[in-house]
Amino acid sequence: MHKTSWMTSDILGRLNANAGMLLLRSLWEYCPEHMFIVRVEGPADFVIEAMNSTRQAMLGDETACIGKRIEQLLPPPMCHGVIANLHRCAECGSPIRYEEKGGYVDRHGACQQGHWQTLLVPITNQEGRVTHLFGVSRDMSQLPEQPVGASPESKEFERRVHERTAELVAANEHLTHLATHDCLTDTYNRRYLQELAELELRRASRYEQSLCLMMLDIDYFKKINDSEGHLAGDEALRCVAHTILATVRECDLVGRYGGDEFLILMPETTADGAREIAERLRRTLTQTSRFTVSIGIACLAPTDHFVVDLIHRADTMLLQAKRNGRNRIECAA
Ligand code: GH3
Ligand code: MG
Repeated sequence: MHKTSWMTSDILGRLNANAGMLLLRSLWEYCPEHMFIVRVEGPADFVIEAMNSTRQAMLGDETACIGKRIEQLLPPPMCHGVIANLHRCAECGSPIRYEEKGGYVDRHGACQQGHWQTLLVPITNQEGRVTHLFGVSRDMSQLPEQPVGASPESKEFERRVHERTAELVAANEHLTHLATHDCLTDTYNRRYLQELAELELRRASRYEQSLCLMMLDIDYFKKINDSEGHLAGDEALRCVAHTILATVRECDLVGRYGGDEFLILMPETTADGAREIAERLRRTLTQTSRFTVSIGIACLAPTDHFVVDLIHRADTMLLQAKRNGRNRIECAA
């Protein structure tokens, strides 16, 4: 911006007075935009002093317009908007740009609708007072209609934007899924489950609702890996995840905590309810697979502030279930 104005003023500075006048006269005569000069007579008093030929072709020749006030030339409310902008430019003493729409009377006396983009430049006298305003207006209603999507190029562009947006949305969803889920079991990963669980804990604490956390671990899982290989072990993990997801409610949160351990957070569930679900899960897995599971349950207490408090108690209960012979459920409440 600064560079452009410096370059422009430099070019004008290198022209002699005659060449400068010639340039301005040519612009005034041949520029296709509407140009006019308004004399400032008062805060809301503006008189047309000059109009270029483009402007005259629209409003009428100079004899019909020169010396007329804006409100004599333009009907209200168009004249009010124009006067307000002329006043603004004269007041601030620097160029302004604005856009306006409104009705005017053409040189044949017919009412027309106009749409303009205008630049107003103040002209000051030696005392620094704004005496005139120079205006250049572009007639926007004369520009060829280019509705969005009308040309084949813009339709193709629009189609490609839609296509690319859909690709990005899909890629974003895929990345979000990768960042929040365990790739082997497709349950939540540990970090995301803990994030969600913190929210549930806060909600349950605030509304004094019950909340239980279940920690489930496959019994003697290492044996499956050791005797049948890690792929069989992986399949066992997927099978447990699938059974858990099929057994619990939709609002329960299921995630892989690590190795062969899963966490299940059960909102609005009492200790009895959690025990019931755990028992159903234990029985189903015993009946449908070659292995058993041990489960530890912790219930939300008023002293719990973070999910790790619950995890710690559920883990202790799980350890107890292992010590007590496995394939069993222990509950802290
Ligand atoms: P316990 O009854 O005391 O739980 O005995 P365990 O054999 O199940 O012992 P533990 O829970 O400590 O074993 C977890 C094993 O899970 C150890 C590790 O090799 C295996 N493991 C951890 N992650 C994966 C995995 O992604 N795939 C497979 N196949 N094995 C895994
Ligand atoms: Mg285990």
